Amino acid sequence: MKTLFYSVKDFEKQYIINANADTHEISLIPEALSISTAYKAKGYEAISIFTGDDASTGVVKQLKQEGVKYIAVRATGYDNVDIHEAEQAEISVANVPGYSPHAIAEHAVGLMMALNRKLITANEQVHHKNFTVGNLVGFDLHGKTVGIIGTGKIGSVVAKILHGYGCNLLGYDINQDNKLIEKYGLKYVGLASLFNQSDIITIHTDLNKDTKYLIDKAAISNMKKGVMLINTSRGGVIKTVDLIEGLENKTIGNAGLDVYEKERGIFFFDHSNDELQDNMLKKLLSMSNVLITPHQAFATTNALTKIASTTFYNLDSWQQNIECANELTSLSTHRHNAIF
Ligand code: NAD
Repeated sequence: MKTLFYSVKDFEKQYIINANADTHEISLIPEALSISTAYKAKGYEAISIFTGDDASTGVVKQLKQEGVKYIAVRATGYDNVDIHEAEQAEISVANVPGYSPHAIAEHAVGLMMALNRKLITANEQVHHKNFTVGNLVGFDLHGKTVGIIGTGKIGSVVAKILHGYGCNLLGYDINQDNKLIEKYGLKYVGLASLFNQSDIITIHTDLNKDTKYLIDKAAISNMKKGVMLINTSRGGVIKTVDLIEGLENKTIGNAGLDVYEKERGIFFFDHSNDELQDNMLKKLLSMSNVLITPHQAFATTNALTKIASTTFYNLDSWQQNIECANELTSLSTHRHNAIF
């Protein structure tokens, strides 16, 4: 299947080429999909996009005009794709669910550890031959209460890891997982209880209309003073302006963010020679109790291998007209119905 891969970074090229094994006719370009780059898809039956690409309503309409029939998202989250519009346009969309929940969960716990034990400051200090410990005092994770918002694939692995640390676990999810209650003693509670009991809150829901700005001023005002907030899900789950206020009034003690509400066009690119125009990001970067990573939680060799192989599984399924297990639209069934 002739496929255009948007937003291909140098580090993922080889994984894509290896997984394809010359099966599909693929073109890899670094540009992100947007209303101004959708025309590049002309002549391609399928495109593949990542989290920073824009497949909103107008872009999907444009893709339809260019003749695109399939969108293979190289990510779990697909909040950047207008699925409804894709269905209208008869464009099938599939994602890569659960490619490595460990990669993201381990990164989330890494952010907790780095913030709590002030590892970045410690490293900077010792490189200046300052071997004092006075400003590096943290706390034991053992015995602390951690609230996990979203106990799906990634949230479950976080629960498993933190159970190992000896944390008390609270969970909030619209779908409860009884195994987490049995295995790790996780207790499902309402959001308000999770907010006011947790020493650390870690977010692992997808971004949807109900989770957009789930963490806003009202939510933050319910949190324990000095709470640590970790977000490796999607930036839009947190209202950043309210997060900054929470950090300034010290309700939030620390924030570890792998994702940011306005990351598109910033994260994944080298802006070291540019003046940052984003004042909220500038503010967050100026705070020593905030640790930001550039949407890198997925970036492990294991995850990259699985993302590439599943993307080609999706393309193979479409090409062979067999059920694509990761299809997000209902078109695959329509296509089959049309055949029989
Ligand atoms: P998942 O579908 O297994 O889990 C998501 C959970 O969120 C589900 O249990 C679901 O019931 C819950 N949920 C959905 N809406 C909710 C609501 N309104 N209130 C409470 N809970 C709700 O997905 P996953 O594989 O665990 O991934 C979670 C998210 O992590 C993805 O959607 C993606 O946005 C993000 N992610 C980030 C990276 C990264 O590199 N930072 C990588 C992969 C995934």
